Amino acid sequence: MEFRHKDLLGIADLEPEEIRLILDTAASFKEISVRPIKKVPTLRGKMMMTVFYEPSTRTRTSFEIAAKRLSADTQSLTVAASSVTKGETLADTAHNLEAMKPDVLVIRHPASGAPHFLAQRLKCGVINAGDGLHEHPTQALLDLLTVQEAKGRLDGLKIAIIGDIAHSRVARSNIYGFTKMGSQVTVAGPATLLPPYLETLGATVTTSLLEAVTGADVIIMLRLQLERMGQGFISTLREYRDYFGLAPRHLHLAKDDVIIMHPGPLNRGVEISPEVADGPNSLILEQVTNGVAVRMAVLYFLIGGEKG
Ligand code: ASP
Repeated sequence: MEFRHKDLLGIADLEPEEIRLILDTAASFKEISVRPIKKVPTLRGKMMMTVFYEPSTRTRTSFEIAAKRLSADTQSLTVAASSVTKGETLADTAHNLEAMKPDVLVIRHPASGAPHFLAQRLKCGVINAGDGLHEHPTQALLDLLTVQEAKGRLDGLKIAIIGDIAHSRVARSNIYGFTKMGSQVTVAGPATLLPPYLETLGATVTTSLLEAVTGADVIIMLRLQLERMGQGFISTLREYRDYFGLAPRHLHLAKDDVIIMHPGPLNRGVEISPEVADGPNSLILEQVTNGVAVRMAVLYFLIGGEKG
């Protein structure tokens, strides 16, 4: 099996075998991060550029660490301090960055489809690090790896994804990823935050958190994307927490060995209680650790050796 893509734009574009290849490679790369010298020469002489038009803590840092662990050079453009503020277009910015000969550009942008727009125009690889409401493929890959490690499999699992589904690129990438790998996905949230097409993606839809968590092997909680929302989606944060916040009392409805995940950043006390976020079932920090390994694997396949 070879990975034949120039870009990683979304999980929708990947075959299950390609997802499996990335996960297996990421699992084998994890060991590099616990060596005394956390570096291998695999991508020596390659260059990754990151261009983030939206804030990020985990994604950008872990892409940079991933590149460094594989000995690639890294350069990041701080958009707020760049000529974007002088009115430069996305295409002009990208062509100018490409003129400096990166091998891959990692982009986060508030517009859904921005990475696809660039991928059609640039010769270098493009990785989508989150585009608007659309996809966040490396988040889904690290979530899949975290579940695979915890459960030993992905097929036949019941996955509950709860919260602001409408504005979540993580929800969309995870629905694609988990259903492609044979899990059953149930999404839950207030009716105002459940877009109508979810069933066509293969998910079961409910407005009841209790229904979604019952019998779940995995519960993925999502942040309310207040920055992408107008008025009228929720009544109050307090009411949202009462109906859609995950608390210890909900866990006994799920499987005994249920695992709790969240892509971060957390709104503690809103979609997830601190007791659950920091409790024994939580794998939230393991997700972050796996983010480095998954991004190493993605960089390896896009700009390393094994492209067909
Ligand atoms: N960090 C994730 C994203 O960029 C989730 C979130 O922001 O809530 O989509």
